[in-house]
Amino acid sequence: MADDYCSPAPAPSPGAAAAEGPFAECVLCREPTEYPESTKGATLCPVCEWQEAQRGACSG
Ligand SMILES: [Zn+2]
Repeated sequence: MADDYCSPAPAPSPGAAAAEGPFAECVLCREPTEYPESTKGATLCPVCEWQEAQRGACSG
């Protein structure tokens, strides 16, 4: 689209400034998550997190 009116700043890219590991590992598949190791509780990788969300959404 050529709709470039008033774009003061480029959109920030989420996650780009994330710290380098160590990351906590996924409690389900042991893949590294995007959460730091210091995160409390169960950590899920993006894939498992999505699957859990789907499961919750489809319950019933
Ligand atoms: Zn996982």
